[in-house]
Amino acid sequence: MKIVTIVGARPQFIKAAPVSKAIEKYNSETGNPKLTEIIVHTGQHFDADMSDIFFRELDIPEPDYNLDVNNSSHGAMTGRMLVKIEEVLIREKPDWALTYGDTNSTLAGALAAVKLYIPVAHVEAGLRSFNRKMPEEHNRVLTDHCSDILFCPTRTAIENLNREGISGKDSSSAAGGNRPLVALVGDVMYDSVLHNMEIAEKYSDILKKLNLKPKGYALATVHRAENTDQPERLKSILQGFEQIAQEGLQVIIPVHPRTRQSLKNSKFSIKNSKLNFIKPVSYLDMLLLEKSAQVILTDSGGVQKEAYWFEVPCITLRDETEWVETVDAGWNVVVGADHKKIVDAARFFKRPDHISDLYGDGHAGEKIVEILVNDGCLGFSNHCKTRNNY
Ligand code: UDP
Repeated sequence: MKIVTIVGARPQFIKAAPVSKAIEKYNSETGNPKLTEIIVHTGQHFDADMSDIFFRELDIPEPDYNLDVNNSSHGAMTGRMLVKIEEVLIREKPDWALTYGDTNSTLAGALAAVKLYIPVAHVEAGLRSFNRKMPEEHNRVLTDHCSDILFCPTRTAIENLNREGISGKDSSSAAGGNRPLVALVGDVMYDSVLHNMEIAEKYSDILKKLNLKPKGYALATVHRAENTDQPERLKSILQGFEQIAQEGLQVIIPVHPRTRQSLKNSKFSIKNSKLNFIKPVSYLDMLLLEKSAQVILTDSGGVQKEAYWFEVPCITLRDETEWVETVDAGWNVVVGADHKKIVDAARFFKRPDHISDLYGDGHAGEKIVEILVNDGCLGFSNHCKTRNNY
């Protein structure tokens, strides 16, 4: 059984790692049928510190294909990916195309596959912000609606899909060709955190390098287009961070390439700032920075969940979030870009006293492989044939 995995952006490397590991484990323990994974890197993120380091640290097999598509508008990027992924799929003839998350690489991978009648599995399906101004929201909705297996991290994700009429129940209905399989497997990013935290504590020297004391700083990331591409929002967010720093809490900001560009274009003076801007850090360094932070301020999806898993208060710099469970649990407040709200949230955050298992048991990767083998192998090859004969 051949699976083509399509990734291209930082969070996708982190999400794909536990599944690649589970494929290796399956092959070494069972191996019947043997699973062959072909990894396609679209090139969406290409800097060494946004890509290579993640493959190395997370021990992900080298990509079999690097499509080198980046640095263009959404349409041009998605279009060029579509053309190049189609070529790979025609050559490899996989049984499955496996896509992750909500980037242009996700949508291009899913579209290229369905147009060749190759079944699509989507990991992190069903997430919704209900904000149609986010490019990610279109990528998610469209990918979910053409997927054959939807691997959901949470019950909320399943409910979101149900509301849109995607309510596949069992593999027999999926094999019939009309209904997809919707599976609650937990969150692959949780698998990654559980697997890597001990390694991070052993090997990362980031706290020493940056001269930070555990719980003595705030960690911040900003990269969503709604914040980086709207100068007023970015300015207000930075104003909030400056205020927090002036009140005595150091603010560490690993800067995403898109944000670096927006900062360059803005009049913001890094030199006169009290903020500590650093390059994007590796995954292991990031885990340690998150775990040791007093508070996290972010517009990242992944970082909101990681804050929750580390029981670190999270302030979300957006007007809504897909990860509503973290808000309901009291560990995340959504404040938008208003500097006053940002500062108040940091000052007055009330920590809940516990967390619960909202994102599975840390074995999402294995569950995904199990389902691909059991439901995807026999049922879906018929399904695939049906479609091919269409
Ligand atoms: N991350 C990292 N280094 C950084 C910033 C983030 O390793 O400098 C990790 C973070 O721990 C999380 C993932 O990248 O696992 C989140 O990716 P990102 O914020 O780019 O995307 P999103 O989750 O918003 O889609």
